[in-house]
Amino acid sequence: MGRVSGRSCIVTGAAQGIGRAIGEALLNEGADVCFADINGGKVAEVAALNSERATANGGKVTHARVDVTDRDQVQAMIAHTVDVFGKLDVKFNNAGVNKPMNFLDVTEDNWRFILDVNGLGCLIGMQEAAKQFIRQGTPGKIINTASVASRQGFDNVAPYCASKWGVVSLTQSGARDLAKHDITVTGFAPGVVATEMWEQVDQDLMAIGAAERPGQAMEEFSAEILKGRVAKPDDITGTTTFLASKDSDYMTGQIVMIDGGMTLV
Ligand code: NAD
Repeated sequence: MGRVSGRSCIVTGAAQGIGRAIGEALLNEGADVCFADINGGKVAEVAALNSERATANGGKVTHARVDVTDRDQVQAMIAHTVDVFGKLDVKFNNAGVNKPMNFLDVTEDNWRFILDVNGLGCLIGMQEAAKQFIRQGTPGKIINTASVASRQGFDNVAPYCASKWGVVSLTQSGARDLAKHDITVTGFAPGVVATEMWEQVDQDLMAIGAAERPGQAMEEFSAEILKGRVAKPDDITGTTTFLASKDSDYMTGQIVMIDGGMTLV
């Protein structure tokens, strides 16, 4: 028996990076997993690549194309998951975006793009998952992806930091509002994780003159990591599977830092 055997889970932003790793780790421990992403083609491939893993561990896998900022699409993703797995137990709100800009250059479009996906997308995901748990009359778990940028403001990524502080607020408010329904809300905060997002951020920081060579921004940003290296997605998943399991049932409203000791808060 795995730690999450028989649990029906949705992970958004699961076509790559941290979300994909979260989904695969859940499958390794017996869960049923819906991999969901705005990149429908890629997430379908990821789900297909994971079908043997699911079967080998007694679980099932499906996928959904979803824009987390669109409530109708989020509802359809949940309905699809319930149709295939029979229920929903755990919802990861992990999809996120970043687009660095110098503080004085940040535009309304840049702000809205980032806050829409990371903030509104998280709120809608929490609301619709909670409504499903309430309809089912079962306990449920909502798990949000925060960041070290939820704990400190960093230069050149102000809207991203604001959005991730928002994720902490949503986690705390949701925990208070939903406790009466036996729904817990937690989050985890990675530091620097080597994913496609960071490759793009590295490029973007060079484009705005904040770095001169590839890799420089990541090196400088992560110089204070006590563990002495950046994370791989697999460094995150022991904690995310714990948060999805019964072992975390008495936790709610909390954010777990998984940053190798980058920020001590
Ligand atoms: P990534 O860019 O590799 O993957 C993000 C995924 O989200 C992509 O597959 C993308 O298609 C999807 N996505 C984007 N917008 C979407 C939308 N509107 N609807 C549905 N899906 C959408 O990023 P990652 O590094 O794996 O990051 C995952 C999460 O972890 C994000 O919330 C990110 O902010 C957070 N995070 C990442 C790091 C890091 O260093 N990589 C650190 C802290 C927090």
